[in-house]
Amino acid sequence: MGNRPLPIANLQAWWVHVPIPERQQHFGDFGQVSSFDSTIVRVTAENGVVGWGEAKNAPGSAGTYAALTALLNQEIAPKLIGKNALAPSVLADELYSGVRAHFASARGFVFPEMSRRGMSVAAISAVDIALWDLLGKTLDAPVWQLLGGRRAERLPAYGSGGWASAADIGPELRDYVDRGKFGAVKMRIGPMDGSMQESARRVIAAREAIGPDVELLVDAHGAFTLAEAKRFCHLVRDCDLGWLEEPLSGDDKPGMARLREFTHVPIAAGESEYTRFDFRDMIDAGAVDVLQPDLAVCGGITEGMRIAALASAHNLRMAPHLWSGAPGFTAGMHIAAASNCGYILEYSLGGHPMLHDLVEEEFVARDGYLDIPDRPGLGITIREDYLQAHVVSGEPAVGR
Ligand SMILES: [Mg+2]
Repeated sequence: MGNRPLPIANLQAWWVHVPIPERQQHFGDFGQVSSFDSTIVRVTAENGVVGWGEAKNAPGSAGTYAALTALLNQEIAPKLIGKNALAPSVLADELYSGVRAHFASARGFVFPEMSRRGMSVAAISAVDIALWDLLGKTLDAPVWQLLGGRRAERLPAYGSGGWASAADIGPELRDYVDRGKFGAVKMRIGPMDGSMQESARRVIAAREAIGPDVELLVDAHGAFTLAEAKRFCHLVRDCDLGWLEEPLSGDDKPGMARLREFTHVPIAAGESEYTRFDFRDMIDAGAVDVLQPDLAVCGGITEGMRIAALASAHNLRMAPHLWSGAPGFTAGMHIAAASNCGYILEYSLGGHPMLHDLVEEEFVARDGYLDIPDRPGLGITIREDYLQAHVVSGEPAVGR
C-alpha cells in the first residue's frame, strides 16, 4: 500500500504524432491542423505498476515535441529513478527547485531553477500526472478521490470548435447542440477572419442560429490589442457572450484587466500560463473571471489544485483547458470534479485522435454532460500498440 516507498524504475517519454483525416481538419490562426502531437510519458514503478502522463508545448500540429520529449528522457528521467513514486506533489516540487530542492523543502518556500517556466514546467506536468495515475492505481482509487472526493458523477461540458465562416457557423454550432445536447458551445475568432468586423459578423450569426438559451463562448487565441478587443466587444454587445477567451496575449495582463473593466463579457484565460505564480499574477491584475489551466502545461494535477484554491479564494471559477490527449484531458476532469470552483468541461469537436483513439475508454458527451471516470488513477487504458505506431522520437538517456 501507499505508506511504504515504491521506487521509480523507469520513465519513458515519446513524441507521438497522429495525422488527422482531411475531413476532420480545421483551419485557424495556427494554420491547417493536420495532425495531433503531444509528449506522452510512462512511469513504471519497481513493482511493475505504471502511470501515464502528458506534456504540451503547442496546440494541434503547430509545434514539434522533440525537445520536450528529450528533456524528459535525457534530463528528468535520470533524476527520478529510485525516487518514491507515491509522492507526486513532493517530486513535482523537487523538480521545480532542482538542486536546491532540499532548501525549499526545509525552509518552506521555493528555490526555482533558472528555467522555471515553459517546457521545464510542461515536463513536470507530465511527471506529476503520471505519478497521480500511478498512485491511484496503487491505492485502487480514482484521482478525484485522492484529491478529496468529487462533487458530482458528471459535469456539464461545452462543445468546443466553431471555425466556419459567417455563412456556415450557425449550422456548425447548431449541429454541436443537436449532437451533444450541449448547454454551451465555443467558437474561434481571430486573424483568419481577415477583420474584426468579420469576426463580429460570425459571432452575431452564431448567436442568431443557436438562439438565446445556449451559452455562446468565444475564443480569440490572444489575437487582439486592447483597442481592438474593445471595438470587438462593442460590435457583439447584443450577443450575450458567456465568456471572451484570451482576448489579448497572456503577456498583456494589464491590458486584459482594462478590458475586463470596460466590458460586461466575462474574461477567460490561462491555457498557456505556468504554475500558481502566473495565475496569481493574472488574478492580482484583475485580468480574469474564469481560470483555464491546462494540466499538461501548468505543472500537472498538483499545481492545478493549487490554482483551483487561488481561484476559489478570489471567488473566481475554473474551467480547465482540455485540448490534449487522454492523460491531460482526464487530469483536467479530475481536478474540475474535485475542486469547488470547477464547473464546466471543454469537449473538443475537432479532430482529436489522442483523446479518442489513444485509449480504450470512450469519452462521449451525453445530454451535455461528461461522466467523471471512476476507475483507478486517471481511469484510462493506453493502447500501447497505437502509441508505438505513431511515435516520432523518444530515445532513452545515454547510459541507462
Ligand atoms: Mg483557448
